[in-house]
Amino acid sequence: MAHDTDSFDFIVLGAGSGGMAAARRAARHGAKVVLIEARKLGGTCVNTGCVPKKVMFNAANIAEFLQDAASYGFRVDRGKFDWAGLCARRDAYVSRLTSIYEYNLAKEGVELILGRGRVIPGGVEVGGRTLRAAHVLIATGGYPHVPEIPGAQLGVTSNGFFELRDLPKQAAVIGAGYIGVELAGILRSLGSRVSVFSRHHEVLPRFDVMLREQLGERMLEAGIELHRSQVVKRLSRVQDGLLKVTTEAGTEHDGFDVAVWAVGRAPASSGIGLDTLGVKFDAKGFIETDTFQNTNVPGVYAVGDVTGRLPLTPVAIAAGRRLADRLFGGEPDAQLDYENVPTVVFSHPPLATVGLSEFEAGERFGVSQVKVFSSRYTSLYHGVTERKPKSAVKLVTVGPEQRVVGLHAIGIGSDELVQGFAVALRLGATKRDFDRTVAVHPTAAEELVTLR
Ligand code: NDP
Repeated sequence: MAHDTDSFDFIVLGAGSGGMAAARRAARHGAKVVLIEARKLGGTCVNTGCVPKKVMFNAANIAEFLQDAASYGFRVDRGKFDWAGLCARRDAYVSRLTSIYEYNLAKEGVELILGRGRVIPGGVEVGGRTLRAAHVLIATGGYPHVPEIPGAQLGVTSNGFFELRDLPKQAAVIGAGYIGVELAGILRSLGSRVSVFSRHHEVLPRFDVMLREQLGERMLEAGIELHRSQVVKRLSRVQDGLLKVTTEAGTEHDGFDVAVWAVGRAPASSGIGLDTLGVKFDAKGFIETDTFQNTNVPGVYAVGDVTGRLPLTPVAIAAGRRLADRLFGGEPDAQLDYENVPTVVFSHPPLATVGLSEFEAGERFGVSQVKVFSSRYTSLYHGVTERKPKSAVKLVTVGPEQRVVGLHAIGIGSDELVQGFAVALRLGATKRDFDRTVAVHPTAAEELVTLR
């Protein structure tokens, strides 16, 4: 193990979810670790992603509960919504988390350097120091992509969303992937008028057809305007100071006080010396890695959003830990299995998925091998409310034994049910195993073990 001050076993670039997890795990294995961060500890998830988003999602849920409160016997006046107060408490919470991270890193003996690192052969340069290590991990994450169209800078990204000083009266959300539908749902439930512009016909185009259709319906019912198959060509500010969206089809939509770009994220892979080192990227600049998170350059690894493989926080954490176990923990075969990773979209209502969509199952196993089971129902919660948004579940099975290879749910409760079912899929559960499991009544989860 390394000894002098600028000599380490492991240098990690980027203190987001993946980098921090890898650094801490390596330190626990006894490695001498340095973690370099150019901005804020915690990266996207903690500062401008999952954490503050979930606070806003919770606020939007409370707005919906207030809407339903009278049906449950509570005569409450919704009163004024204090956006600034909520954002201040949210930001204070995020700051507390980042302080905890700093404490944990120190406790585990990870040296932290705040600065922009640059990879060189056998190490990293940062703030005038040259650090050496046999193993260098790139975990620099990504940033929101903004297309190069006239007026693009008039819009904000998901980063800017968390800096808004007021709830927008009327918002345009461009893109209907994870971030687009999540922010649209939050804004709508909190009271904004919302228009979503998607270049695809359906929202969440990569998800199972049932989820795409159901979420699209729920968004329309909630009063969100969905502009399908519309490519935004220009943003402009019109005389009243509000924004106008012009599409390639020539339609114009105005009156927006905020436009949010939610059209994907780009890798933070340039300007850190990787090209000089000969690290291979794909066409979009994501770092190419093998199943062990190795890049093509020996001793240089990458995890998380910068690799473009399932850009989800728990995936980056798991990949980072497996890598540290492999390099320093005596587990030469440790690697992350990217199959059956559960994920939740915190849309309104939330939706959850693990495994393959019906389409993917057909492609992989042949359409004739696939059998699906689904149900659309009204949640008991909505039995007494005026709003009656439908929930839905679906199992995708393959082969004569009907092994469950995909599980999809939308509606109240689906965000909390998927984690446990993901274990069942990982263990290779069949439809019969689901059928033989006694239901928990009345819940959303029981719908998945009572499908015919
Ligand atoms: P997504 O890839 O989910 O969605 C972006 C959407 O925008 C796609 O449908 C894409 O279409 C479309 N798009 C791309 N370029 C343009 C353009 N120029 N004009 C119009 N539409 C365009 O990306 P997000 O930014 O929403 O989120 C990034 C990732 O972050 C997600 O994939 C997810 O992994 C992660 N995330 C996870 C969350 C969670 O776990 N709950 C929450 C938020 C983000 P096309 O496919 O054709 O390129």
